[in-house]
Amino acid sequence: MTDPITAAGCGHDAPAMPLADALERIHAALTPITGTRRLALRSALGQVLAQPITAPEPVPAHDNSAMDGYALRSSDVGNGPLRRVGSAFAGHPFDGTVGPGECVRIMTGGVVPAGADAVVMQERIEAEGEQITVNDRPEPGQNIRRAGEDLRAGDIILDQGRRLTAADLGVVASMGRAELAVMRPLRVAFFSTGDELRSLGEALGPGDIYDSNRYSLYGMLTNLGVELLDLGVVRDDEAALQAALEQAARDADVILTSGGVSVGEADYMAHLLRRHGEAHFWSIAMKPGRPLTFGRFDSAWYFGLPGNPVSVMATFTQVVTPALRQLAGERIPAPRRFRVACHSTLRKKPGRQEFQRGRLLTTADGTLAVESVGRQGSGVLRSMSEADCFIILPADCGDVAAGDTVVVEPFAGPLV
Ligand code: AMP
Ligand code: MG
Repeated sequence: MTDPITAAGCGHDAPAMPLADALERIHAALTPITGTRRLALRSALGQVLAQPITAPEPVPAHDNSAMDGYALRSSDVGNGPLRRVGSAFAGHPFDGTVGPGECVRIMTGGVVPAGADAVVMQERIEAEGEQITVNDRPEPGQNIRRAGEDLRAGDIILDQGRRLTAADLGVVASMGRAELAVMRPLRVAFFSTGDELRSLGEALGPGDIYDSNRYSLYGMLTNLGVELLDLGVVRDDEAALQAALEQAARDADVILTSGGVSVGEADYMAHLLRRHGEAHFWSIAMKPGRPLTFGRFDSAWYFGLPGNPVSVMATFTQVVTPALRQLAGERIPAPRRFRVACHSTLRKKPGRQEFQRGRLLTTADGTLAVESVGRQGSGVLRSMSEADCFIILPADCGDVAAGDTVVVEPFAGPLV
């Protein structure tokens, strides 16, 4: 990367870079971690798979019944009553063969006995003692779940680089597998910068505010399954910043800071990063979240986020999240975005790509739409709390009228 590093002001006057360009540059710079570890299946939830998972055996292992009913030979039906010769319950197969004119009582999940080629549900038969009368002829294969219908032996079931979901745990368990190789978790150190910031439990002096960024960052980082190192609040002081960065770089793969991007404060950071690694100060054409620093401090990657609480969350989701996922060895799917009608009027000046906060809603006719959560200032953190999606407005667009179509990106939810 060849960004000129400007001195005072750190590029605040430089033309703003489109977000997509910044993402491309960061993507090109990063190399994923390589360490792996073996984990018990449950502990692997939310972790990144280090090897592809192949099914050793078909699942299910045998043809089995999808219904409670009778296993029979479909060609027998219509030739008079069948004789019940046994039963096949889940976990208790019938070990004989169904011969001509015979049938076997079978329950859901029971192994389809040899000779039978269909299952008729119990509601479709008349039973008199061992005599079973079936009126409608079943198709061969009817109500039978085939061996390998879920997983075929030898198929790659889960790709390397996949972040394991609840469904994945179930799929792996269905193969009888108790352990998985996953990437070691990424270690992320983070701190807030600012002389005005107080930690929870401290009293506020005049002009002080509570440090909220460390809490929203804690939440978002935890959702990504990384290991956290919370270094608290660091004063706007070069020596204090240096000490915090050195500790962070010793113990973590990635350092995240928020605040300290205004002229003056940013000079310390520029100085420290240049002495200890590399620094790229960008003004990103996104709102909220204009200033962003990316680089290295000693052996750790460094992301310097803006101070405003909404900017922190917007830049974290759009810039830091894909970077951390890439570093963690994850294969990252494209963001989930789609177009819906916007039920609110949105104010916007052409110039920057905006990430306004919205709430998805279902209209009376069942279609999805979005509405604004209201005030959109970069200090109005409540807007993030009330929202469940970003409304993404392109740089060149202006005000949006109610009824116009907009692009939305739902916030990531829990893994199913
Ligand atoms: P800065 O980039 O340091 O100039 O910060 C920009 C704005 O964000 C200022 O109003 C700061 O007080 C506010 N801010 C910075 N850090 C935090 C934080 N950790 N929690 C809440 N607000 C913050
Ligand atoms: Mg500050």
